[in-house]
Amino acid sequence: MPANLLIFDMDGVLVDVTESYRTAIQQTVAHFAGIEVSREMIQDYKNQGGWNDDWALSHRLIQDAGREVAYQDVVDFFQSIFHGEGGNGLIMRERWIPESGLLDRLAVNNALAVFTGRLRWEANTSLSRFAPERFREVVGVDDVTEAKPAPEGIVKIRSLVPHDKIWYIGDTVDDARAAKAAGVPFIGIAAPGSPRVEMLIALLEKEGAIAVLDDINQMEKVVAG
Ligand SMILES: [Mg+2]
Repeated sequence: MPANLLIFDMDGVLVDVTESYRTAIQQTVAHFAGIEVSREMIQDYKNQGGWNDDWALSHRLIQDAGREVAYQDVVDFFQSIFHGEGGNGLIMRERWIPESGLLDRLAVNNALAVFTGRLRWEANTSLSRFAPERFREVVGVDDVTEAKPAPEGIVKIRSLVPHDKIWYIGDTVDDARAAKAAGVPFIGIAAPGSPRVEMLIALLEKEGAIAVLDDINQMEKVVAG
């Protein structure tokens, strides 16, 4: 049995969502408000904390542009372009970040789990495509009463999987705060070249990250396989 437990955030950690979720936000805001929001503006909200939910963030950006649109209409449009029809949705633009063999090596000594702000079925759609059967527990936003930065998902997985050491790996301030609230060491991910990356690195360190890596393929520097 693996001795330790690695809990991963999904978007920006396991999956590059630059062309999927971030584009879905931009297209949703353009549809309802007729304006183009920059990647930097989206990242500024993410860096503030409290904007882990891309539906809520899209709705807020539309309101910022002076338009009143029902929240559910925003969610419905976002989901329609994200999932598309007949496999043409933005979800198909996701890129799997772990290089071949990384998760297999990590899994020798670590149970692997996911705590994500996605709905669980939406997380499993991507996980079954890229890494079937690899994650022992998957906790989605619909499995908790309080989303991140609340620690509930981490606490839940921790209670389900026996372990010695434990880490949470994420790419936002809310991830770092969730780990801190759970009392779990946090490893930050900040992709070079992404919008506002210097600010993100500083924020993750300020929130107590034990390391901030370019991407999870560097995990073995911090966590033994
Ligand atoms: Mg993330």
